[in-house]
Amino acid sequence: VEITGTMDKELVTLAGWVHELRDIGRLKFLLLRDRKGIIQVTMSKKDVPEEVFKAVTTLSRESVVQVEGRVRASNIAPRGVEIIPINLRVISRAKTPLPMDIAGKVRDHSGAVRDAGLDTRLDHRVIDLRKPQVASIFYLRHIVLRAIHHFFDERNYVEVQTPNLISAASEGGTGLFPVQYFEKKVFLAQSPQLYKQMLMATGFDRVYEVTPYFRAEEHNTVRHLNELTGVDAEIAYISSEEEVMTELEELLSCVVDTTIEVGGEYLEKLGVELTPLKTPLPRLTYKKAVELLQEEGYNIIFGEDLDTKAEKILGRIMMEKTGCKAYFITRFPSSMSKFYTQVCTDDPDVSTHFDLEYGGMEVASGNQRVHDMETLKNRIISSGLNIDDFSYYLEAFEFGMPPHGGFGLGLDRLLMQLLKLGNIREATLFPRDRDRVTP
Ligand code: ATP
Ligand code: MG
Repeated sequence: VEITGTMDKELVTLAGWVHELRDIGRLKFLLLRDRKGIIQVTMSKKDVPEEVFKAVTTLSRESVVQVEGRVRASNIAPRGVEIIPINLRVISRAKTPLPMDIAGKVRDHSGAVRDAGLDTRLDHRVIDLRKPQVASIFYLRHIVLRAIHHFFDERNYVEVQTPNLISAASEGGTGLFPVQYFEKKVFLAQSPQLYKQMLMATGFDRVYEVTPYFRAEEHNTVRHLNELTGVDAEIAYISSEEEVMTELEELLSCVVDTTIEVGGEYLEKLGVELTPLKTPLPRLTYKKAVELLQEEGYNIIFGEDLDTKAEKILGRIMMEKTGCKAYFITRFPSSMSKFYTQVCTDDPDVSTHFDLEYGGMEVASGNQRVHDMETLKNRIISSGLNIDDFSYYLEAFEFGMPPHGGFGLGLDRLLMQLLKLGNIREATLFPRDRDRVTP
């Protein structure tokens, strides 16, 4: 329970970490920290049993203690209450010195105090997570994830789990981690793409999955991880990719609304202000995007990837033009798309692929898929892939496959953009990157 001034004189038992100890002779203050925040335990030599008073002297910061005492309303203590202890038990003593303190400070060789860098923070993530601002990110991640589950559930999606150990390169790409699987070599899935498509041939109609993606990204960037969480959805009986985009934008808008509605205290801790999104979001074709970039003097040739800088510039332009933080880039050149992406019926040079951009960065991609068996076979072959690797996937198209499409949304990336974190690692409890597989 939250301890407040209205509980004056009540007897309570609290447990938590020793945030700080202040000793001013006959008075000692112990700042006790738990999930609810920090509360002051005030000990004066005359009101507190001697052994309690003594025990406090030898306490180290971040030790876990249990305090039994009486609440006293106080207009000088933080939060307007203090605890006058009757009993204090040391449950777990913290070693000294701490590798970094809870305010995120470290002491270097010369003894000077400075901010711990992200690497140091991640090395000691458990301690880092004790910092209320850092913890706020994960309370918000929980809120976002809950909103996502709620959204899909309300819309009759079936939550599924598909395998993460796969026999062949699902998306025909590089970037897969090989795994020794008994006598064979298999791979960690980079997305549930092929499996969620196969499920469209079963009658489930709408499925979603929250699942790890493994991507052997070679380079360390602030927006890439090697293990991330994807939110995947697949919908059958669509008439175009527009239906998929509608689901995705409504999902994003629902996530933002819920975060504002229930995440207020955490957003405040992070100093983040969120504004609701107006749906439908603006759509910008890839062609138009290239033109806008060229007008800005940033030269991208039709058919080239939009790099980080291009996305940033476009995000700014779209904000100025439409006032929207999020928008879609649509109709990418067919030459850029994966084998399973359907081309547009009115112009085969462009495909149904779309990216959802939020705050100047891609947070999701999707498209309408090829559901015609012969087209799919040809696309696999012309992509230079081995058709035999795909026989299990192709079988799903042989006995009645409805038109379908879907999207993959990066949860870590979304949190990064939503909360304006400078680095995706901040949004992940224990991030995996090129150099880090511990903790
Ligand atoms: P990017 O171009 O940003 O590297 P992508 O287009 O290769 O991403 P997709 O295959 O479209 O990625 O994956 C769907 C979503 O998953 C992306 O929009 C992004 O939010 C997230 N995502 C993909 N790869 C990574 C990664 N390595 N680290 C973090 N998030 C990722
Ligand atoms: Mg993408």
